[in-house]
Amino acid sequence: TTILAIESSCDETSAAVISNGQLRSNIVATQVIHQKYGGVVPELASRAHQQHILPVVEKALEDAKVSKKDLNAIAFTRGPGLLGALLVGASFAKALALGLKVPLIEVHHMQAHVLAHFIEEPCPAFPFLCLTVSGGHTQIVLVRDALDMEIIGETQDDAVGEAFDKTAKLLNLPYPGGPLVDKYAQQGNPLAFPFPLSEMPGLNFSFSGIKTSILYFLQDKSKSNPQFVEENLADICASVQHTLVKMLLQKLRKAAKQTGVSEIAIAGGVSANSGLRKALLEMGEKEHWNVYIPRFEYCTDNAAMIAMAAHFKYIKGEFSEQTISPMPRMAF
Ligand code: ATP
Ligand code: MG
Ligand code: FE
Repeated sequence: TTILAIESSCDETSAAVISNGQLRSNIVATQVIHQKYGGVVPELASRAHQQHILPVVEKALEDAKVSKKDLNAIAFTRGPGLLGALLVGASFAKALALGLKVPLIEVHHMQAHVLAHFIEEPCPAFPFLCLTVSGGHTQIVLVRDALDMEIIGETQDDAVGEAFDKTAKLLNLPYPGGPLVDKYAQQGNPLAFPFPLSEMPGLNFSFSGIKTSILYFLQDKSKSNPQFVEENLADICASVQHTLVKMLLQKLRKAAKQTGVSEIAIAGGVSANSGLRKALLEMGEKEHWNVYIPRFEYCTDNAAMIAMAAHFKYIKGEFSEQTISPMPRMAF
């Protein structure tokens, strides 16, 4: 069984081919146009998807050494994401499936982030917990089976990736700032500036408060020393990162205790963060967890994870109708 998968939920146009659960190709075109606007511009994103989708799909087929007539199904990201961006991938997938007379498979983007763990060994055993941390989401997911997942905790406001990016913006770093905060943090003292941890009940998160405390902190310090940010960049980044990572891991530990699950995975763009990776491995050792961290290219948006999810859905015969439309907000 060979499936072509398409991802177009945000600012990556991606296509991948999977055969019997083995990934054969994964092409990602990242849209650079948004950089000068300091964030993703939805209208520009959908236009860029339109320009990229055909060459990206052709390259994915070529790399996989597969022709269109070898395809048994076409998968696409139905949501969540930007409507105009999702529409490009969905329309393309529907047209191709119709033309080839093969089934269509819709994939939930956040479930696919979790299933990225099955692209390569070692794979977590069921049930496992996945901390999914990205630009738009922060979730603790209890994964009972490949297609049986439940969100047991999530952010009530900003995503942690957003907190990283907004911090970077306050520090005058270019978009997307998360990776830069990580880079500077590596030379700084994580305990230089204590920021308050927000308290949310249960397994939920809140990241909007810390953004405000950082803003006031910087305004206050800059009053007496206009060079404060420049002179303390590494220490500020390290302290903010330390605080965000602590907030994530506190809840993850709580979730592990509550569920009794010790197979622990992370997914999503923020799982590329070196501070989070290090702290998670340390906590895993202390708590006797098996920790799973995907390769970087499978953490950020990619169609390989969509293909993996589609593989599981194909096995169960979960196909979609031609009348299907994208869902910018989509429940599990
Ligand atoms: P979603 O999956 O929720 O729809 P998204 O697809 O935009 O959102 P991803 O592409 O998975 O999110 O991740 C992008 C986010 O990851 C950005 O907020 C970016 O700043 C952050 N990020 C990437 N690398 C790092 C890093 N090393 N440290 C901190 N944040 C990072
Ligand atoms: Mg992205
Ligand atoms: Fe994503």
